[in-house]
Amino acid sequence: MRYLILSDIHANREALEAVMEAAHAKYDRIVCCGDLVGYGADPGWVIEWARETRFDALVRGNHDKACAGLDDLEWFNASARASALWTRQVLGSGELAFLANLARGPVGANGFTAVHGSPVDEDEYILHAREAAEAGAYLDTRVTFFGHTHLQGGFQILRNAARPLRMSPVELEPDWDYLINPGSVGQPRDGDPRAAYCIYSSEDRVVEFYRVAYDVAKAQSKIRGAGLPRSLADRLARGA
Ligand code: ZN
Repeated sequence: MRYLILSDIHANREALEAVMEAAHAKYDRIVCCGDLVGYGADPGWVIEWARETRFDALVRGNHDKACAGLDDLEWFNASARASALWTRQVLGSGELAFLANLARGPVGANGFTAVHGSPVDEDEYILHAREAAEAGAYLDTRVTFFGHTHLQGGFQILRNAARPLRMSPVELEPDWDYLINPGSVGQPRDGDPRAAYCIYSSEDRVVEFYRVAYDVAKAQSKIRGAGLPRSLADRLARGA
């Protein structure tokens, strides 16, 4: 089975459409590690897409939780808070209920697991090998997909030690555990502004990372037109 792994779409319709088109012949099933909304200008469209999509695993992200009103916004910076409040205003009650009912990770699928932040805490960032090694004790399956950092890549872990994954494709080695981040569809932060995703082939035990260019200018102009903080538009061009 080939899985399309998505994360951190962040209401970016242009990026999501580009990914779905680029990936369409590469996968059989879909997994999403959360943050459908927040930051971007198309939360309703992305929620509609999610409602029509059959996911093998779909977990909520911290922005989904915040936009649904399940979290106060005290940990959010000013632009994240402004976008969460805007998103709450523009969504209807059915859309907010959809966000509120998203599952909290970890969610298991066929031999792997999806989480938003870490296996322990959906709000926790796994940025470095040290954090990946600590998370290693809490993994339910050999392969776990995560998001939240908006950094494509991840870690392989063996006996309390972790090292970053360097190359694509990644051939999964026996005995190692893997924490794999497909990168962010809608707001990459690893210096590459192109939308990110990965494909996991469970039979071949291979993960391939991909980037796809999309209409950044259109996504930016919608963000500006909605009166959202301009920094949220500007950063899309930098991938930062
Ligand atoms: Zn996110």
